[in-house]
Amino acid sequence: MSKFMDSSLLKEAMETCHYFWQSGWGECHAGNLSYLLDEKQLAEYAEDFQVKRTIPIAFSTQGLVGRTFLVTRSGAVFRKILRNPLEDFGIVRIKDTALEILWGFEKDKLPTSELSAHLQCHSQRLASNENNRLVLHCHPTYTIMMTFMHPLIEKDFTETLWRLNSECVLVFPDGVGLLPWMVCGDGAIGEETAKKMRNHRIVIWPYHGMFASGNDFDEVVGLIETIEKNAHVFMETRNAVNEGITHEQVRELAEAFKVEIE
Ligand SMILES: [Zn+2]
Repeated sequence: MSKFMDSSLLKEAMETCHYFWQSGWGECHAGNLSYLLDEKQLAEYAEDFQVKRTIPIAFSTQGLVGRTFLVTRSGAVFRKILRNPLEDFGIVRIKDTALEILWGFEKDKLPTSELSAHLQCHSQRLASNENNRLVLHCHPTYTIMMTFMHPLIEKDFTETLWRLNSECVLVFPDGVGLLPWMVCGDGAIGEETAKKMRNHRIVIWPYHGMFASGNDFDEVVGLIETIEKNAHVFMETRNAVNEGITHEQVRELAEAFKVEIE
């Protein structure tokens, strides 16, 4: 048994993926994550992390050469994520034109097909926050519903979410990034998501799901839960009697919480 197998990091990653499935946000093969390990973690698990194989890559490594990530595998089924961590997760070190698999991805499993999007997001987030560690993708139900029922205008989408609960502006004063519908996978959507991540920890993909980032699991899962909870409130209150929180009151809240919003 490797030391990393018992690590709190792997445990937290597994629990999070399982939680997404339980919440209905990780159906079938949906969902993936990447976590940037720090020097302390690399030193702690150095004995476990040996180059097992090398996989050539065709995408840009985004200035992340030498960095090491915990990543979910391509095709991972979150419903069964607690069973085979050695197959469903891997530790990968980024090289110029290849990935070194240091742990996991047994039976020739490969990293998520969205790895290029993940690396681009990490690169952009690290440029604005050197403590960013985690990028997560999942399919939160009400958030997806909201993209059918609300105009796809980023500024208005953020404002609507802020007006749904007094604490929204405290949890995500940076608002949400919103892309137009795009083909998912390793194409242009990764670059467009990463561009939005310069200014937002959350990027919503209409009719698909969400990319979320942050310093740790609690922050990122908390962001997703908050957006999803309030998208649910939005869906259930579209014929509401009361206006709810006004544009001006959102600014009052921001002032009271001492957070800056645009
Ligand atoms: Zn997806």
